Amino acid sequence: MGYHATKIADGVHAIDENGFVQCYLIEGEAIAVLLDSCAGGGDDFRDAVYGLTGKPIRLVITHSDHDHTGGQEYFDTPLMHPAEYARYHAHDGVGQHTRPGKQGDAGKTGRDAHDGGGNVAEPDPGAASAKPAGHAHDGGGRAVEPLWEGQIIDLGGVKLETVLIPGHTPGSIALLDRGGRRLYVGDTISDTHVFMFGDGRDLRAFVASLKKLEGLAPHIDTIHSAHGSLALGPEWITKTRVAAEKLLSGELSAQAPPRDLPCRQYSHDGVNLLY
Ligand SMILES: [Zn+2]
Repeated sequence: MGYHATKIADGVHAIDENGFVQCYLIEGEAIAVLLDSCAGGGDDFRDAVYGLTGKPIRLVITHSDHDHTGGQEYFDTPLMHPAEYARYHAHDGVGQHTRPGKQGDAGKTGRDAHDGGGNVAEPDPGAASAKPAGHAHDGGGRAVEPLWEGQIIDLGGVKLETVLIPGHTPGSIALLDRGGRRLYVGDTISDTHVFMFGDGRDLRAFVASLKKLEGLAPHIDTIHSAHGSLALGPEWITKTRVAAEKLLSGELSAQAPPRDLPCRQYSHDGVNLLY
């Protein structure tokens, strides 16, 4: 696995995995938050993250797609919205990924090295399930801690506010840094592809969540996505909402998807929805 860290602001790094997914390390004076944990995991990922900060790290998961949970084993109990628990534990958070998610996330950009032919390194499910989590289990799955709507994670000088945005998955969250005027959105907004087919997707909830984010747009200068460009302007919230509404109302024509993904692509104003 190749990991590459890019400093995008004071105390904020994006950690890119082979050009197809990125997670973010957001550092305050007291602690740091790692927002998602890429796909492949492994010692390279651990070293990339811990090489950026000496502060304690809390892992926050935007949602349970495998390319956001891959390296979680190196961190203490992750924080996640409880609306995501069922989907997370259905995958057990490790190794057991739905085929659409796996194919989909591997194919999110045209510039990645993953061709769906099996060269996306994944944790070994057997090894992972044999590893004691060291915490109370929820039905035998991995331990998680709840992260609620409006809950603020205080890093010391930096505060991250939890915003529930169901649609891409039931418990998808964004984190709002009002002081830094940044919004971290996971997979809900991207200038590559937004995956709205497969397990757990809900296009109407997606539109509702984008309307919710539009209400926060006056507080946002920069959007940070897990795929594609590291920084987008706040206009991408409305662009994405409009594209999704046009898809719902039948105004967009179906195009061939990237590779052989089991979906169609619907594009409007630079937003590419896979549905
Ligand atoms: Zn996703």
